Formats: sequence, structure tokens, C-alpha cells
Amino acid sequence: MSAEMPVGVLDSEGTVLAAKTVEEVFSQIVERTKALDPANARKWFDELAPARFNGGLLLVACPDTATVEFLRDNCSSSFTRAAQQVTGHLVTVDFECLPAESFAKKAQRTDGRLKLHPDYTFSNFVVGPSNRLAHASCVAVSQSPGNTYNPLFLYGNSGLGKTHLLHAVCKESSDKNGKMVIQLLSCEDFVNRFIRAIEQGNLAGFQSQFRSVDMLVIDDIQFLSEREQSQEEFFHTFNTLYHNSKQIILSADSPPAEIPSLEERLISRFNWGLVTRIDPPSHDTRVAIVQKKAHLRGLDISEPVADYIARKAQSNIRELEGALTAIYAVATTTGSEITLELAQTALNGQLESAARHISISDIIDVVTDHFDVRLADLQSKKRSQSITLPRQICMYLARNLTRHSLEEIGGHLGGRDHTTVMHACGKVDNLKNADPKMNATLADLERRITQPSKV
Ligand code: ADP
Ligand code: MG
Repeated sequence: MSAEMPVGVLDSEGTVLAAKTVEEVFSQIVERTKALDPANARKWFDELAPARFNGGLLLVACPDTATVEFLRDNCSSSFTRAAQQVTGHLVTVDFECLPAESFAKKAQRTDGRLKLHPDYTFSNFVVGPSNRLAHASCVAVSQSPGNTYNPLFLYGNSGLGKTHLLHAVCKESSDKNGKMVIQLLSCEDFVNRFIRAIEQGNLAGFQSQFRSVDMLVIDDIQFLSEREQSQEEFFHTFNTLYHNSKQIILSADSPPAEIPSLEERLISRFNWGLVTRIDPPSHDTRVAIVQKKAHLRGLDISEPVADYIARKAQSNIRELEGALTAIYAVATTTGSEITLELAQTALNGQLESAARHISISDIIDVVTDHFDVRLADLQSKKRSQSITLPRQICMYLARNLTRHSLEEIGGHLGGRDHTTVMHACGKVDNLKNADPKMNATLADLERRITQPSKV
């Protein structure tokens, strides 16, 4: 696309923006997007380029499908809002994979199959004593899949980098060997696809899909807990792959023997290869992670600021990212440099809300009391409206009142995946806007959760 192309097409009168090129407008849109959604702002946004601008649709060219997926999942609405603010017109933004020559083959190969997070690479992973072994085993497996540690089993608490490492292995392996067939998915996805295959009478299709891969990577395998039929199916998948020397990589929140109601034969197989633990990171590692994450967002963070953030957020790396986002937001809205004082001011608000210690359990207590349902029902598979609505409201409130990830929220409510939580939040948001009674109920629940003493 020509850099000289005017943006007249955007403007119904054909004049206002004509002086600017699409590229100029686009770089303003990128800056505005970063300010609107600091949590997802990335330095590499600067390398994106407009592909087409037509009929109110701005198509952004991306180098690979992983980038397209990331932007569609996380940034569609902020890009669209930014585009509307910058141009003053009803523009919608979408993303497409328009790779440079060298990317073309890879993009085609991974399209629709491997969905990788662009940030989750080995080079973006900070290695420290808490994760050194896990990292080294992932690197080793990506160098020689099927031959080193098989299966490789990573475990550790939430937010310590398991998913990040799984994506990094897949990316590295696929970069090394373009022909390799890799299947990466959450265990919940595996179970759901299995159930669907049975319902549709297509078990054979499901089996051949999973038993014919070169590398099977399943995240959060603890989801198999108490699911006997899925365990049986996974057992046979495992055996087929293992006997054909195909690589299996699994992650979980606890070691194999501590996953509740997991068949003995699976526990023993999970221990056949290497079982490796990730511990909470030390202070030094946290400082390095803050710096790495700041760099990804294109921020300059001094040592004292990184040190300060690492002290404030100790248990989970997602907290570090939340702190960084809060600081970034204050810095961009006030146009200031990130000094220690600014970091302290930005995190003070956060600490106040953390001091209130709103946990998902607080939310569940208030919601179950209000709707007169039991926690076990919320966590069950029941889909009646009387259970679904309170469950979705819990998800919505947890999303708005805590800093837990979608994944963690889903975990508390019966091991549901992040798309279910996202869907629930959208649905409750719509109900809230459409129904004043629902709006009042939500406000009341929120008040009871945040100010329990005043009830
Ligand atoms: P888990 O799957 O164990 O719950 P994730 O892999 O989702 O955790 O990690 C949570 C966040 O923390 C991600 O943004 C990830 O990039 C980041 N993270 C975790 N460990 C590291 C690390 N050692 N270096 C850089 N980022 C990390
Ligand atoms: Mg994870």
C-alpha cells in the first residue's frame, strides 16, 4: 500500500483527513490504543502496518497467525475505539495475516492449529533458581522432541509460568522443524472435544486427530480429575504416542500423585519421564521479570522502580504485570516519566484495594447467599438458569473486583476455561445494561462484597 495514499475514504466529506496518510493516522491509532489498554500494550505494535482501509474497515497486517489471534482476542475493541477517537469516524479494526515472504510458509502451516501467544517465547522467559530445571527441560525437549524426557510434566502454582513455557516449547519446536505436527491445548479443551466427538458419533476422528501428532502438549491436566471416561481416552492416546516415540508435555497445579481421583496407571505414566516443579520466583528473578515485561511494553524502568514493584507483588507473576500496567496507565495519562514516586502513587490505589482482600470466596459467599444456591452447584456441570446465572455473576464480579486471571476465575468455579468466563462477563454486562433490576442487584452484591461491615 502506498504511503502517500490519503485517508479520504474515511471521511464522508472527503476533506478533513485527506492531508494525512494512512500510515500517519495509523501510528496515532497505535499510540492511542496503547494508552486505552495499557495491560495489552506491546512495543511490537509499532511494527504493525495498515493493510487496507475500505468501507469503514481498517485491516491491520500482522506477520503471523499468532499475532492475529492475540490481537483479535485482546485488542479488537481498544484498536477500534482508538481508531474512532483518532479519526472521528465509525471505523472498525480487524487483523489479518499478511506475512512477509519468509513467514508465509510457516503461517500457512500453523494456521488454525497452533495458537501461540506471541509473548510466550524462551527469550521472554526469565530463568532463575525457581524455574531453572523446568526451563532447561523444556529447552532440551524442544531440541530433540520424543528423545529426551518423555513425558515432560511441569507443575507449580498458578501464575508461575507453566503456560508460558509450554507455548515456548511449541514455538521453538515448530521453528526448528516446520513439518512437525504439534497439538497444544488446555485439558478442558481436550475433554470438551472428546465429549463432542462422542455426541457426534465421531470418536474415530477424534482419536486419529490426537494419536497422529508428533507432539501433544496439554495444559492444566489436573482437569482430568474425576473424569473417568476422559482419563480412559487419554490413557490410550498417551500409550499410542509414547510407543511411537512422540513427545508428550503436560502441566498441572500439583505433582501427578496429588491430582485428586486420577487413575493409578496415569499417575505412573506421568512419572515415566521427567517431573519438574516451578517454585515462586526469588526477589532477583522478580526484578528481572519486571524489567523484561517493561521492555516488552516499550517502557524504560529504572532499577529502583523494578525493585519496588518486585517487593510489592510477591506471590504470583500476574501481580507483577498488574502493577506494571497500573504504573504504565498513570505514566501515559499524566505524560510523566516513570519515577519511583510515580510508581508509589500508582500502586497505592492498588494496594488499598488489595488491603480490602476481596477474594473469589468472598464473592461466592455473597452470591450463593443472595441466590440461595450452593457452592457445589456453582461448581457442578448443571446448566439450569437458576444455577447458570449466579455462576456467571460470580465470574463477572470476580473479573471486576479481583485481579485474578480469567483462567483462575474459571478454576474456582468448577474448572471452566477462560472463554467460558469471558462469555459470562459479556453476558452479565449486557444484562446489566438492558435490565435496571439486574443493574441494581449487581450494585447491591458489589456493595455487600466490598463493604461487608455496612450490610
Ligand atoms: P501458569 O500457567 O503457571 O499459571 P503463566 O504461564 O500463565 O502461568 O504465567 C503468568 C504470567 O507470568 C505470564 O504473563 C507469563 O509470561 C509470566 N511469567 C511467568 N514466569 C515468567 C518468567 N520466568 N519470565 C517471564 N515471564 C514469566
Ligand atoms: Mg496456565
